[in-house]
Amino acid sequence: MKRFIPVAEPVFAGREREYVLDCLDSTWISSNGKYIERFEKTFAEFCGVRHAMACCNGTVALHLALMALGIGRGDEVICPTLTYVATANAIAYCGAKPVLVDSEPRTWNLDPSKIEALVTEKTRAIVVVHLYGHPVDMDPVLALARKYDLRVVEDAAEAHGALYKGRRIGSLGDVATFSFYGNKIITTGEGGMVVTNHADLAARVRLLKGQGMDTARRYWFPVRGYNYRMTNVAAAIGLAQLEKIEWYLERKREVAERYAARLAGVPGIVLQAEESWARHVFWMFSIVLDDSRKVERDEAMRRLAERGVETRPLFYPMHVLPMYLDATPGAFPVADWLAARGMNLPSSARLTESDIDFVCEQLLASIETA
Ligand SMILES: *Cc1c(COP(=O)(O)O)cnc(C)c1O
Repeated sequence: MKRFIPVAEPVFAGREREYVLDCLDSTWISSNGKYIERFEKTFAEFCGVRHAMACCNGTVALHLALMALGIGRGDEVICPTLTYVATANAIAYCGAKPVLVDSEPRTWNLDPSKIEALVTEKTRAIVVVHLYGHPVDMDPVLALARKYDLRVVEDAAEAHGALYKGRRIGSLGDVATFSFYGNKIITTGEGGMVVTNHADLAARVRLLKGQGMDTARRYWFPVRGYNYRMTNVAAAIGLAQLEKIEWYLERKREVAERYAARLAGVPGIVLQAEESWARHVFWMFSIVLDDSRKVERDEAMRRLAERGVETRPLFYPMHVLPMYLDATPGAFPVADWLAARGMNLPSSARLTESDIDFVCEQLLASIETA
């Protein structure tokens, strides 16, 4: 059989099956049940925060976080242009306008030095994205937020467990959000989490995700809420995954180190940096083919696919999508370069050394000539 190596695949290495069967046997399969509480509590401890609220996906987690902060019509929210579309969409769901920032060339995250020029009287918040698992340089972002009285949301959908100056991401801004989609570092199938140290934000998220129902008075709805809850079945899978998260993080690092040993210093291949102040969790191991490589990125990806290696382009930046074409004037040269020339390599926790060597050999063969 021809070898095929996917970009991502979930790995169930723990008690997922046992916990899911327990849900079925107990009949607690909707959004009440012990796994929701256990997953929330264990995830809060993992992030080092007081409150964690499970919800049905990472997009909804962002929507809840922004609503809890009171973001609404007429507000502006600064976010990176190079991100998954959910970041900008969640801002737009609130009636607010995403204001896009270019990337910086080492970590590929939003460039903190380009934020201040975008702050206006309408700016209310900054959403940072720890892209592909590398933490954002938070200190300059937090300093700007203090200076202009802005709230900070961490979109940590890709960065469970990453560290910034020794501190867990997710605990650095006012509120943070995670995704547990099937290809994320740990998964619940579809799922998300909002975490915060602020009791008032936590209460607001709980109210909004539960249809707006008053906790003390059943079927009384003081606000228009949403059904954004997670099921006990999803939480059961999530708890089992979370119990093994150190294993996933170790595997991701081993995969990245093996790639780096093979690819660092190869002319024409640029790797996402891991800064000295950061612990990258390598959700995706990614490369950029720099301008010295004659072969186009898409052609290289096509050749890799033929050779049994699945890859993915880095995200399209938001400023080229129809909804956000006019969002922010100005140029985004770094994001444009990354998006045109970057790709994610297979990054599953299941990859063996031989898989990674195979991917590297196919990659080098695929980029040799134009
Ligand atoms: C995956 C992802 C999301 C959305 O999560 P879903 O669970 O797919 O809704 C949001 N932001 C970023 C940066 C992501 O990678």
